[in-house]
Amino acid sequence: MIIHQPEIISAHGEAILQARIETNTPNTGLPETLWFTYPEHWAGAISTRSDSFLSALLLVAMTLGEDIECRGELSPRLCYNLAEYQKIFTYWQPKTFHPVQIRSDKILPAPISQSKPCYATTFSGGVDSFFTLHELLNPTPEKPNWPIKYALFMQGSADIPLSFTQKYQKLVKQYSMVTQNLGIELIPVRTNLMYFCDNRIALRSFLEAPLSGAAIGLGPMITGIFMPTGGLYKCYTDYTVGPITTHLLCTENFESYSHGSTNTRFEKTLAISNWTPAQKNLRVCSGWLDSETENCSQCEKCLRTRMILHSIGKLEKFSTLKPVFSFRETLRWGRWLELGFDWENESLKYAWSHKKKLVPGILLGILIGYLRHYLKLLLPEWIKQEIFKWTAEKDPHLIFDSAVENPREVKR
Ligand SMILES: [Zn+2]
Repeated sequence: MIIHQPEIISAHGEAILQARIETNTPNTGLPETLWFTYPEHWAGAISTRSDSFLSALLLVAMTLGEDIECRGELSPRLCYNLAEYQKIFTYWQPKTFHPVQIRSDKILPAPISQSKPCYATTFSGGVDSFFTLHELLNPTPEKPNWPIKYALFMQGSADIPLSFTQKYQKLVKQYSMVTQNLGIELIPVRTNLMYFCDNRIALRSFLEAPLSGAAIGLGPMITGIFMPTGGLYKCYTDYTVGPITTHLLCTENFESYSHGSTNTRFEKTLAISNWTPAQKNLRVCSGWLDSETENCSQCEKCLRTRMILHSIGKLEKFSTLKPVFSFRETLRWGRWLELGFDWENESLKYAWSHKKKLVPGILLGILIGYLRHYLKLLLPEWIKQEIFKWTAEKDPHLIFDSAVENPREVKR
């Protein structure tokens, strides 16, 4: 794979950082150009080094088994770390990812900025995003103030496809207001990177790539980025963004951190449950709604979040979610329960000590969830397929997942 010299062009009020991408493998169906767009006033701050393109495309080249040649400048620190990054992914998914060589004639450290350090966090409007923002903006004696100045909001990532223009524009306006009120600037970024991973790489392995690709490009101006994660230290598997891989995506002038592996989704939801910006703007849906609505309130992720808010008695405070949690929805919540993350136990524990009347409903939901889980493990494949047509959602993420390894399924 050749990553040609990146360049910046201006179009439609956006600064576009782009590079031509060439592969040796014929008929890959990959786009000829990888691009990231930023607001025009950021044009002077964007780097034309190859660092961001390499971090974005490494896993794609590894699925093709192609060495990478970078025609632009490349950070030695990034190269060093990506050697380790490759080892992690080939260990996790040996059939999907193959080790590759990275070459460049211009291995040069990224220039270090003389200005004060300032950091960004990636922001999607979900529980993990709000939790990270809440922690960074509300210092405690144990966790002093962090110089957070920007929030990076992305289209072209897993939850807002490039075709959802209206929804993206609406959310940019809405989140700009939210972040402005918190004293930070929203940086809307778009990319076509997902077209490079389509049907090759499981989405959970490709969550870092678009974020690091877009963020490293701002290296001269931004010291580093926080990537909120749902992966937990205590049950960590092959999942990105996370503490095993994210910190490796750095150069001499740019650091990457994953944030939030210390807290479960229940704890995070509890932490932001009284925070007005989260109450008015929370967006957790995996339903890919191309409409004015943030959340469908009925998909697995919406139900999971609503159940937590319901059990802590805060659901009606969240204006982007349906306020009443019905008995039928409790059964539906159980039907789609994914076990192994403690989501269900924490709701149960909280209800047991604070709101006993919810306990029978939650227990019934959990019973359904366990039944589904064990049927999934024990039944022959052909019966499973028939049953799970009815008890598994049409997960939009699966469009990125066909014909790729799913080690998490095997491990359970
Ligand atoms: Zn939903």
